[in-house]
Amino acid sequence: MSNAPKAGIVVVGSLNADLTIYTDRLPQPGETVHGNGFAVNPGGKSANQAVAASKLGGQVSLIGAVGNDPNGNMLLDSTASAGVDVSRVRHSDTATGVAVISVDAGGENSIIISAGANGTLRPSDVEAAAFADAAVVCLCLEVGIDTVIAAAQAGHDAGATVLLNLSPYAEVPGELAGLSDVLLVNAHEASLFLGAEADIPDPSAEPEAWEPVREQFAHRGLQRVLVTLGSQGSVVLDSLAQAGDRITRISPTRVSAVDTTGAGDAFTGAVAARLAAGDSLADAAAFASVAAALAATKKGTQAAYASLEDVEAARA
Ligand code: ATP
Repeated sequence: MSNAPKAGIVVVGSLNADLTIYTDRLPQPGETVHGNGFAVNPGGKSANQAVAASKLGGQVSLIGAVGNDPNGNMLLDSTASAGVDVSRVRHSDTATGVAVISVDAGGENSIIISAGANGTLRPSDVEAAAFADAAVVCLCLEVGIDTVIAAAQAGHDAGATVLLNLSPYAEVPGELAGLSDVLLVNAHEASLFLGAEADIPDPSAEPEAWEPVREQFAHRGLQRVLVTLGSQGSVVLDSLAQAGDRITRISPTRVSAVDTTGAGDAFTGAVAARLAAGDSLADAAAFASVAAALAATKKGTQAAYASLEDVEAARA
């Protein structure tokens, strides 16, 4: 048996076909408006995160479910061609999940997700053998919470770092919080999670302004948290670090953004890739900041994600 450290990344969760229609303005309830373009693209938070991590050099395996339909085939093709091991993506009799996305001329969007086959993913799909080489397990909340908990438990049992992206937002059972080594949230999700007492600082605030937020997360059992702040960068709240190193503000990477859809997934996948490669949380976040910013410079999600060479060139 080799003594090399485990380096695998297991992503458990959703694959969706993104059905996107572009329009000048979003319709009001009861109203019909004309669209001026339509596209079908591979998506789903977990598929996006798996592709982002794989393009950055991660050894990624995806556990999920798709239907026996063209959307399912498209998703298997896009993830496999990015180097993701899709042998544990199961076929279901239920249609592949879809996200129906409307985007207006200002880039504002509204999204409805139909879980489809993602809703058939069960704790029994989470087999311990899939986690044997896992250094990182990457989870989001687009599949059932029981399945997410089973995956977090399997990752924990395998000694992997369990990375939970709290999106789309839902209540986190104490059991899942206790199994999550790193929580990844945007500012909105952070304030929903912390509830009434939350006072998320303005992105321009000094790093020390995050101290009460770090303490609130730690009080809820979340010792290591990444909060993303869109074009304002991110902040690392690491209660396990030495005093003085517990808050790291990651400056934004300045780009001219064309489409920020899926930037959060690019960030999450990049954090998973770098943690699996042995980076500290702060170093992984700094790397992810560049990868996510590069993703925002191109239209689309998976096809827009950066390679390791792209990120290294941008950081040089
Ligand atoms: P989404 O759900 O739209 O994918 P999110 O709300 O989960 O996004 P954000 O905080 O918007 O996540 O973005 C994640 C990270 O992507 C940010 O922390 C930042 O590093 C990077 N990013 C996003 N938008 C921009 C931008 N306009 N310019 C540079 N970096 C960006």
